[in-house]
Amino acid sequence: MPTADPSTHSAAILTVGNELLNGDIVNTNASWLGRTLRGVGVPCETVLTVPDRLDRIVAALRQLRAEHDLVIVSGGLGPTRDDVTKLALLEVFGDTLVRDDRVLAHVSDYFRKRGREPGEVNMAQADVPSRATVLFNDLGTAPGLLFDVDGKLVAAMPGVPYELHHITSQRLVPELEKRWKKSERRVLQHYFRTTGIGESDLSDRLLAGLEQRIPPDVDIAFLPHPQGVDIRISQVNGESADTFARFAEWLRGTAGTFVFSEDYRQSLAGRMVELLTAQKKTLAVAESCSGGYLADALTDVPGSSRCFAGGVVAYGNEVKVSQLGVDAAVLERHGAVSAPVALAMARGVAGRLGTDFGISTTGIAGPDGGTPDKPVGTVWIGFWSADGAHLACRYHFTTERLVNKERSFAAAMDLLRRHVTGINGFPYHPEVVHAADQRNQ
Ligand code: ATP
Ligand code: MG
Repeated sequence: MPTADPSTHSAAILTVGNELLNGDIVNTNASWLGRTLRGVGVPCETVLTVPDRLDRIVAALRQLRAEHDLVIVSGGLGPTRDDVTKLALLEVFGDTLVRDDRVLAHVSDYFRKRGREPGEVNMAQADVPSRATVLFNDLGTAPGLLFDVDGKLVAAMPGVPYELHHITSQRLVPELEKRWKKSERRVLQHYFRTTGIGESDLSDRLLAGLEQRIPPDVDIAFLPHPQGVDIRISQVNGESADTFARFAEWLRGTAGTFVFSEDYRQSLAGRMVELLTAQKKTLAVAESCSGGYLADALTDVPGSSRCFAGGVVAYGNEVKVSQLGVDAAVLERHGAVSAPVALAMARGVAGRLGTDFGISTTGIAGPDGGTPDKPVGTVWIGFWSADGAHLACRYHFTTERLVNKERSFAAAMDLLRRHVTGINGFPYHPEVVHAADQRNQ
């Protein structure tokens, strides 16, 4: 029976498995479930991970049930000895197992289709607690289990991520919506994905007026990652949708030139493919320190062949000379990590691949190889455009090799983004060298 407003309900996620605690497996189920719960307006307030141990699972279930209306458990439902979640549920609910004919038929069928006979441990997947509703699993053999006891829900899911996604979306979410009426929920949420500015610069300088501006019922989160900072604002059953919209508008105006997308699913590469395709422009990349990262990220985007021609991983100096036409004397004089080489690489690759834009990366990715002049993390990004722009920017990234590759990618995309969207200037770039100025020197 539908009860009150679901936003007054809170959820907890309990992930089970030694492999999560010792770092063998990243706990993607917790993040996926957190996002899914937010999407249906039941905020997750606790995430707990416990080992594959009966006593710890039982204690965690009791504690979380006392504090939350919904507990989603992931993992430990399988047929092997270390999977003890089902036993924990029996203990918590004082329940016993009954054999479910539909699950039994499904398990038998699952094995026969694969040319095998199910063993006793497989058949045991069809033994389910008598008080649980079976959340049928089309993709595997362990069904999800839903307990609705004393006005509280506990849903147990298999740990395998795609099975968990399937059962949650197809079986659990409809059960939640049936019980907790959807119409009374009002969740507003908006993302601004920014790049080219650090978290502290963004929050301190750009959004200095934030404390005065933010409506009391709106939450704001700054979510940094190597490619930029996402700003998420949300309002759950707030006073007025207008104040939310006005605040979003103020943020858009303030963070404006740093925002590359307002769709949280759109990647930086995805946005660049969209912009280039709309303008019917083409791009080629010449990559030294990023080692193919740019090409990889761009080709992750469906439809990128319309704008991305290709690239050269010009890691060795000989390749910079032979494939991109960089002058060996310039390399000798300035070193590979320099503005003249970045400029020549960008022009060279665009010329050879016949594109509207060429972008290059050359830097010291680390952890070794730095000098006092050019410490680890020094990266030059070169940019060449058929419309006349030709410049290089110097950045100082980190001492972490992989972070430097990713940040080189983000900086390269941001140079291109600023150019194609007509944003002038690079406020947070320490040094910009224009090819025209170089020639005049
Ligand atoms: P099965 O029926 O496959 O045995 P199960 O419910 O017993 O399912 P587990 O044995 O705990 O699930 O986990 C199965 C696999 O799912 C693990 O090897 C791991 O790869 C993955 N997995 C488990 N928990 C998580 C998690 N929280 N996040 C990401 N992956 C997970
Ligand atoms: Mg397990």
